[in-house]
Amino acid sequence: MRLRVLGGCGAWPEAGQACSGYLVEHDGFRLLVDLGYATVPRLLEHITADQVDAVFISHGHPDHCADLNPLLRARALRDDPPAPLPVYALPGALDAVLALDRPGMLDAAYVLHEITVGSRLDIGPFRAQTRLLPHWVPNAGVRLAAGDQVLAYTGDTGPSPDVVELARDADLLLAEATYVDEVPEDSRRYLSSARQVGRQAADAGVRHLLLTHLWPGTDPAAARAAAGDRYDGEVGVATAGLVRDLP
Ligand SMILES: [Zn+2]
Repeated sequence: MRLRVLGGCGAWPEAGQACSGYLVEHDGFRLLVDLGYATVPRLLEHITADQVDAVFISHGHPDHCADLNPLLRARALRDDPPAPLPVYALPGALDAVLALDRPGMLDAAYVLHEITVGSRLDIGPFRAQTRLLPHWVPNAGVRLAAGDQVLAYTGDTGPSPDVVELARDADLLLAEATYVDEVPEDSRRYLSSARQVGRQAADAGVRHLLLTHLWPGTDPAAARAAAGDRYDGEVGVATAGLVRDLP
């Protein structure tokens, strides 16, 4: 399994970067996990829009799904449009982004699969398990298994025992860590710090930890250090262009 980071900025994309978006490949199958602001131009540096096989979106915030629109446009507006793109998301999560264009314009470009959290889901070669994790809007964390490799991704979430269960013994945990040490009071239930994520990664026994969704301007070294306070494994920070082969 190969993970290619298209972007890892929280909230808005910094210069030359993008918000949350990850290309996960196995056996030639290309799954996009989240499609935040500016991820499509990063994607198109590597593959064409019609080479995407499926999309999974964790939740409906635009820094995780806004670029579904340009991806669908790039497929629908060609002379020879490819087959409809399977898109997996929680019910209603994509209503806003799918309503951006005039009615009907993108209808043939995708097939929306509304996921039921906890039920078994197969996406190409990936066995996907989802968990509802605490955020302002419903957010589906996802655990992707292929061969004997496991990648767990939190989407956006406050600390929760469900994060630990989602990530249990994973080869790689890709975890939202918007802040370094302290999450502001008004966000404490719905977002995480690198320090909290490091604790959860240790509790889950994951082999590698990749922090993502850092608030723009955050010092990545400070985030890595905070996560490493409790977690002994390798800690990285997701930025556009980073590639990780699992395990
Ligand atoms: Zn969010």
